[in-house]
Amino acid sequence: MSKIILTGDRPTGKLHVGHYVGSLKRRVELQNSGGFDKIFIMIADAQALTDNADNPEKVRQNIIEVALDYLAVGLDPAKSTLFIQSQISELTELSFYYMNLVTVSRLQRNPTVKSEIQMRNFETSIPVGFFTYPISQAADITAFKATTVPVGEDQEPMIEQTREIVRKFNSVYGETLVEPDILLPDNAACLRLPGTDGKAKMSKSLGNCIYLSEEPDEIKKKVMSMFTDPNHLRVEDPGQVEGNPVFIYLDAFARDEHFAEFAPDYANLQEMKDHYSRGGLGDVKVKRFLNEVIQAELEPIRKRRKEFQKDIPYVYEVLRKGSEVAEAVAAQTLSDVKNAMKINYFDDKELIAMQSAKYEEMED
Ligand code: ATP
Ligand code: MG
Repeated sequence: MSKIILTGDRPTGKLHVGHYVGSLKRRVELQNSGGFDKIFIMIADAQALTDNADNPEKVRQNIIEVALDYLAVGLDPAKSTLFIQSQISELTELSFYYMNLVTVSRLQRNPTVKSEIQMRNFETSIPVGFFTYPISQAADITAFKATTVPVGEDQEPMIEQTREIVRKFNSVYGETLVEPDILLPDNAACLRLPGTDGKAKMSKSLGNCIYLSEEPDEIKKKVMSMFTDPNHLRVEDPGQVEGNPVFIYLDAFARDEHFAEFAPDYANLQEMKDHYSRGGLGDVKVKRFLNEVIQAELEPIRKRRKEFQKDIPYVYEVLRKGSEVAEAVAAQTLSDVKNAMKINYFDDKELIAMQSAKYEEMED
């Protein structure tokens, strides 16, 4: 069986370092590993509209931002198909048929939907489209017959929902769809990077992000004012490493080379953590080091982005071409689905013959 990747991002803002460690970095590695037959990367504008229906301009403006971030981190249109969800109408059609295979109570139990509803203060005014977006996500994944979905931990219930829909579809209509596997980051700190404010998840919608395109002084300001151990008041006090966002970021970003270059007093992160836990290492010093590490990681990304920013029509052209390629693939799957469901009346010679025979019999 071919190995196929599908993943994507909502164009609700520029991409941030949470996206980078949670998914983008891995995608680029997988892309360059040559281990996959096809890679589809989707800008999920239709999904973004499910909770931004009254703000289409925000979604429209952010498509180019996400595309620039993709190119900046090293996604390569020659190796990966970059496309825009709304341009593939087959995805909407698939969702409509999958809706019959999912119950309302199953969607209500989805923990990601639950927490996102809470986060957005929807209470009882949840848009139907938002409520059902796990189904549309199943359409996105299965349309490309994806075997692998590299995403952050928050997406786990979504992939499980997709797997259920695939199993249900195949058991009712016959083996048609492919059950995907989730691919989570190996590094635990990258599963769900917290916000700079210490909140559980860095998220565009919460405004607690360090963006990939951010200028150096802005990054520094954000890092130096990050939430840390609130009980670590004096340098000589023992500090808490566990759950401390500054150390979670270091877990996610710092490599031994960074210590040699920016903090030669320590051979590795464990030594720095031990010193902090013992007492005698101040937050400012740790944050300065984290700033150096993040600056080193983001500088080449920012530079590449600036190059692509000089030719915006080229970026739109990449998305247009990618959307054409994606549409052809999704159209094939939709045709398979309709055949399996036997809603292909005009191509179904057997059906026409059977109905003719039935009425001929009645005549006799
Ligand atoms: P929104 O607030 O609009 O939902 P978001 O910041 O959650 O935006 P998405 O576009 O929903 O971003 O997520 C894109 C991908 O990035 C998903 O694979 C998701 O798992 C991953 N991701 C998002 N935020 C984080 C994070 N803080 N840590 C790790 N992975 C993340
Ligand atoms: Mg999200």
